[in-house]
Amino acid sequence: MSEELGLSVKKTENFGKWYLEVLQKAEVLDTRYGIKGFLVYMPLGMLTIKDIYKLFENELEIRKHKPALFPVVIPQSYFKKEAEHIKGFEKEVFWITHAGKNKLQEKMCLRPTSETAMYPMYSIWIRSHLQLPLKLYQSTAMYRYETKMTKPLMRGREFLWIEAHTAQKSWDDAEKQVKEDMEIFKKVVTDNLCIPFLLIKRPEWDKFAGAEETYAFETLLPDGISLQIGTTHNLGEKFANVFNIQYMDENRKKKYVNQTCYGIGIGRILGALISIHGDDNGLIFPPVVAPTQIVIIPIYKKDTKEKVLKKCKEVLGRLKEKGFRVHLDDREKHTPGFKFNEWELKGVPFRIAIGPIDIEKKQVSYSKRDEKNELTTPEDGLEKFVKTKLDEISSNLLKKAKNLMKIQDAENYSDLKEKLKKGGFIRIPFCMKEKCAEKLKDNTGAEVRGTLFEKNEKAKGNCAICGEKAEKIAYVAKAY
Ligand SMILES: [Zn+2]
Repeated sequence: MSEELGLSVKKTENFGKWYLEVLQKAEVLDTRYGIKGFLVYMPLGMLTIKDIYKLFENELEIRKHKPALFPVVIPQSYFKKEAEHIKGFEKEVFWITHAGKNKLQEKMCLRPTSETAMYPMYSIWIRSHLQLPLKLYQSTAMYRYETKMTKPLMRGREFLWIEAHTAQKSWDDAEKQVKEDMEIFKKVVTDNLCIPFLLIKRPEWDKFAGAEETYAFETLLPDGISLQIGTTHNLGEKFANVFNIQYMDENRKKKYVNQTCYGIGIGRILGALISIHGDDNGLIFPPVVAPTQIVIIPIYKKDTKEKVLKKCKEVLGRLKEKGFRVHLDDREKHTPGFKFNEWELKGVPFRIAIGPIDIEKKQVSYSKRDEKNELTTPEDGLEKFVKTKLDEISSNLLKKAKNLMKIQDAENYSDLKEKLKKGGFIRIPFCMKEKCAEKLKDNTGAEVRGTLFEKNEKAKGNCAICGEKAEKIAYVAKAY
């Protein structure tokens, strides 16, 4: 492998360096733009992002969400209306204060999230129970001036996401909405992108600014650090009160709506996908979102060139017809070996190679990106075979990813501190008090992320941090 193409560092030896190198060398994105925390998405990154968007947008629209687009700027007067909300975000908003040489009468912020952009309009639009639920989503970029260290896709100042905001008749309807959001997340992120996650209910002190309940989707990166890749919130009537969003119910009584908002971290999901599935040779894309699912590489000498290329084109046509995203790499200036390495680096899940011997035996040579041994299969029935193998790659990727999702138990503080050194999630009996979580953060940098949503895990015994009576089982991890 040429020096330039290969990665200089192993994922297991230095994940941080491997991650930056693979992003740049596989041409997913470029981090050399002149403003810190802002990325340039290159075609491979952007094609994947568009596919991830599409997967979520389809699921949202099946469930009657409709697309909308609200302005990127929010006037200060809107933004300041909800007190907790402004407190949660004021340290990290970008303000626009001037237009040309003139100071603006009212400054505007770039949306750090869009509640205060959307809900004044919800207040104008919503009149009757017949209009509910109102379910709108937008696929956009958000802006937050991160003060911590930035890391491409994980922590930046401009990041891509989807936000879906609903207005509902009641608290129960809002709770149902939150569950629907969870169902969508599992379908896209785990079933399609092969990324497992924990569904965490955030503790009181760590809820979204202005929310009644916050649920977070958290996965684990290979460095043992947790990454929140999405959240959904039941906002109750809080924002409805502030923005006066009321409707007339069936009995002509005026009521406040209950609201939910759902944030899907598209960029972070791409970051997780690259980190979790990639290996020492580069990216590995789950077939569902691989911009190229299959690459065909011709192997020939001068006298067999015509015959081999003809066969490759025939196979290309057959696979394209079945809807696979397939590419024939017939570049003359590179050797097959160079091409093998390049497509491995770029994460193409399935490779086909065809040479004179393959043609003679009516077969193709193939290699799966997740296993990498070269085998052969008959040309007959190739379409079906490829489909089976792509499905196999998906289930292998998910299986491997689940094995990496390390969850350990700790009963006391010294045990907890010891296990935190190895990374991953640690389950502890916990008193559910904020001061206790603060102590942990000050001492170790790790955070109490919350309790598991699906199971109500009651704790026996005492809190692993303070030793007082434990209330629940909580999950602790270092987090991005
Ligand atoms: Zn405690």
